[in-house]
Amino acid sequence: MHNNSSYFFTEEHQLFREGLRRFLEKEVVPHIDTWEKEGRIPKEIWKKMGAQGYFGLHFSEAYGGSEADFWYSVVFLEELARCYSGGFAIAPTAHLYMASAYLANVGSEFLKQKYLTKAIAGEWIASIAITEPSAGSDVANIRTTARREGDFYIVNGSKIFITNAVYGDFLITVVKTNPEKGTAGVSLLVIDRHAEGVSANKLNKLGWHASDTAELYFDNVKVPVENLIGEEGKGFYYLMGGLQLERLVGAVGAVAGAEFALQHTLQYMSEREAFGRKINQFQVLRHRIADLASQIEATKYFIYHVCRLHNDKQYAVKEASMAKLLATELSDKTMYQCLQMFGGYGYIEDYKIARMFRDSRIGTIGGGTSEIMREIIAKMVVDDVQYQSAMGHSGDSAAANPSNEKASLQDLTQLIGNKLAGNSKKIGNTIKFVFGEQGVLFLDGLNNTVSNDDLQADCTVKIDLSDFKALMGGKLNPMNAMMSGKLQIDGDMSVAMKLQTVFN
Ligand SMILES: Cc1cc2nc3c(=O)[nH]c(=O)nc-3n(C[C@H](O)[C@H](O)[C@H](O)COP(=O)(O)OP(=O)(O)OC[C@H]3O[C@@H](n4cnc5c(N)ncnc54)[C@H](O)[C@@H]3O)c2cc1C
Repeated sequence: MHNNSSYFFTEEHQLFREGLRRFLEKEVVPHIDTWEKEGRIPKEIWKKMGAQGYFGLHFSEAYGGSEADFWYSVVFLEELARCYSGGFAIAPTAHLYMASAYLANVGSEFLKQKYLTKAIAGEWIASIAITEPSAGSDVANIRTTARREGDFYIVNGSKIFITNAVYGDFLITVVKTNPEKGTAGVSLLVIDRHAEGVSANKLNKLGWHASDTAELYFDNVKVPVENLIGEEGKGFYYLMGGLQLERLVGAVGAVAGAEFALQHTLQYMSEREAFGRKINQFQVLRHRIADLASQIEATKYFIYHVCRLHNDKQYAVKEASMAKLLATELSDKTMYQCLQMFGGYGYIEDYKIARMFRDSRIGTIGGGTSEIMREIIAKMVVDDVQYQSAMGHSGDSAAANPSNEKASLQDLTQLIGNKLAGNSKKIGNTIKFVFGEQGVLFLDGLNNTVSNDDLQADCTVKIDLSDFKALMGGKLNPMNAMMSGKLQIDGDMSVAMKLQTVFN
């Protein structure tokens, strides 16, 4: 295939690619069949890759990284996809871009020194533990709890489908530190995989055989409070931010895998004969290849566009979701068609295409299913919902500085009063907004009036005045504010849901 990627990649990126490809061809590819059979990747290769600097590409030099631009990571992910094993590729991808990223983005200095340095060196392997038996797509429904007791959290619960969690070393674990608060009670903890009370059960999978996937149990696990990532109660917000990168790297890997499978298949088609000709001469197959090549090329360059947004620190929720949806569905389609080109040999394990076919299938499920990607995209495209980053990306400043930033609490009270007076529909309940020392706003939804009296209400909402202004200005989405902990609700949640009427 013609290579016109130079628009995105410099000569340094290309040299990096060549070196990495040589490394993988020597140190990884010859062993893949063994690792697939054994269902594990030896620790030595992790250390070798760490020593080569492959695990620190996007991390700070202070912890052993090289602070390279995102295109080096794109090269890294694309080359991993050429090793004939999705199971091998996912292991460092999850370790770095799905798990350790939280340490780098919101972890304390202590956590970075203790865990991130080891992750970059390839000495310790990380997992991201989100999914639970009752909470996959419905992440907010997680039940694992972390109860504070002195200088420790006591963790109880279970996780399922956790990559690297059988042979790995630490888990970025999503827990509920305050279950009554819903998503505003979610936090992230680093839990040592071998801590007392943590146990794992290895799962047998359709594909990704080289990767270990675990069901995890936490039985009164004592986790030091220093292992809290970022702030308590903000875990859900961090997670929503982190998942964008997870989806983007998933998309890069999926389209690279599809492109590689197509090249692999073209090679076979140029050798295999039927009816006295090479099979690549049958028009029906040529057209199928032409379709796939066109779709792969288009998807790949759309993904590069999203990578550019990411590299420019833009929070591209819609584009990252589109990239994951398109790339993983295209990968499945490509693998299906490529296997078909191999005829009966495609169904035989000795042929790499059989494994590629199996390995691709998880793409539309892991890291958010295709259905969930469509839900996110539809919300943004149809309902005009906007999302903001918790990781200090550009969206934050816009939210914190709405055009009415200077408006006082009195002005806002007046503004809401006018809105309610002109609204024939009544909320039907009372809601109190508490702005810390700056006062309160009492909304009487039975009479559609508003005051600054500190009265008892059906539902109390704690929020910073600046965030409240952002909500009023349409710069902050109420759902996002709730998920991020910026808006904390005491009392009847269903009343708070009616807030949408006030802010629209
Ligand atoms: C090999 C493997 C590795 C994984 N690695 C990890 C990991 O490292 N860490 C981790 O935390 N998780 C991991 N996962 C879990 C993965 O992210 C979840 O399986 C995935 O998010 C789907 O959740 P679920 O399996 O509970 O499916 P469910 O949420 O039960 O969904 C079942 C079906 O219902 C559909 N559905 C659900 N809700 C909706 C809706 N609102 N609208 C329309 N359709 C809907 C889904 O799309 C799906 O088709 C892994 C999974 C596998 C198989």
